[in-house]
Amino acid sequence: MAARGVVVVGAGQGGLETAAALRARGYDGRITLIGDEPGTPYQRPPLSKGYLSGTTTGDELELRPLSYFAAQDIGLVTGDRVTAIDRDLRTILLASGLSLPYDRLVLATGARPRTLPVPGAASLSGVLSLRTLADADELRGRLSGPPLQLVVVGAGFIGLELAATARALGHDVTVVEVQGRALGRALTPVTSGWLVDRLRRTGARVLLGREVTALRGDAAGRVRVVELDVAERIPADVVVVGVGVLPNTELAATAGLGVGDGIVVDRQLRTGDPDVFAVGDCARFPSASAGRHVRLESVQNASDQARCVAAAICGEPVPYTAVPWFWSEQGPVRLQIAGLGAGHDETVVHGEPESASFSVLCFRRGRLAAVESVGRPADHGIARRLLASGTELSPEEALRPDFGFKTYVRTPPITKERLSVHA
Ligand code: FAD
Repeated sequence: MAARGVVVVGAGQGGLETAAALRARGYDGRITLIGDEPGTPYQRPPLSKGYLSGTTTGDELELRPLSYFAAQDIGLVTGDRVTAIDRDLRTILLASGLSLPYDRLVLATGARPRTLPVPGAASLSGVLSLRTLADADELRGRLSGPPLQLVVVGAGFIGLELAATARALGHDVTVVEVQGRALGRALTPVTSGWLVDRLRRTGARVLLGREVTALRGDAAGRVRVVELDVAERIPADVVVVGVGVLPNTELAATAGLGVGDGIVVDRQLRTGDPDVFAVGDCARFPSASAGRHVRLESVQNASDQARCVAAAICGEPVPYTAVPWFWSEQGPVRLQIAGLGAGHDETVVHGEPESASFSVLCFRRGRLAAVESVGRPADHGIARRLLASGTELSPEEALRPDFGFKTYVRTPPITKERLSVHA
């Protein structure tokens, strides 16, 4: 086994899972996992859900206890930042001055929140984002006090989850979204409309098609007002900006690796340098599901890509073809998505949106591309299997009165490919 070992940059979901998958596969070289945040690697999804509401503790966020790293002989460096990669010497440099050689380097640098380019956003206190445990601790501290006027800018997954959590804690919540609908790129109008309607019924205000033009503060520099493009001023004690993320690509770009909304990798998640891989939120990869290069932000994507890279490093390369899936929780509502619905041109709805139990099947050019399920975990499980097996399902079949996910999986129709095999 090579002596320099594997260095993983970024100790989040993707970085941790890469190190763990390498050991699980029997890799016996040196593994070093380096993260710039303090503490052991943790899960981010509860930060906008249970951790914020107080039902999930800090210990429950941990992806692995500290003892795991010693037991697996994984070197964990935290609170230090990789500042440069020397690809000729195959060495990385850390902010602390340390340098480390590698045989293989895995970039799992994640993403950071976009900022709001309006007056007051960068200078006023009380203007927050939600990406790290430190961000969540600050927000949790504020939300644990008396009722506040909270304005959430951006009706993406994190913004809507946070709004639902804050509303359940009794705060006055307004969500402002510049697009005409929430989650316009990620969800069908049926599901996004349903989520917004549900949030409104809890007492939150959701303003769609409205742009924040400025944040105004008091003499002490605390945010007090959110100004909109229409002549409206919303009082605010806290503003959370949830307008998407930017992938952390600077390290790769400076090292001469290809970047462009993500670190560009091939089907095995290798960059242009065969010794350097990228996984998770920072990686832009050719997706079989989408038929083009995409960058995904989900636990499934980071974890499955980590396993794929570990396989390649262990000499058993496989293309990354996992069916993407995602979940979101907004209060008691659990939404699950299988596949990628972007660019779909037809939808079929099964179930009852009124009773919070429905699935939306999205078709692209006559083929099933994605399924959004609310309160229907069984549909979600079956949708993942259908998409993974490439089973053909047309909108016409999905519209048949006797169509049922379960029946469909038990007796899959004979596909054209199968017919030709049996002919
Ligand atoms: P990250 O987890 O962001 O880890 C990257 C790490 O690398 C960070 O710690 C970063 O500080 C560090 N780093 C960056 N540059 C350097 C450097 N130069 N040197 C050292 N360290 C560096 N996904 C779901 O599927 N379902 C959900 O419900 C869901 N909810 C979410 C809720 C919130 C509030 C957030 C923020 C995310 C949520 N996600 C959810 C997304 C999911 O958490 C991410 O997709 C996942 O964490 C990506 O893992 P990653 O390893 O690519 O990046």
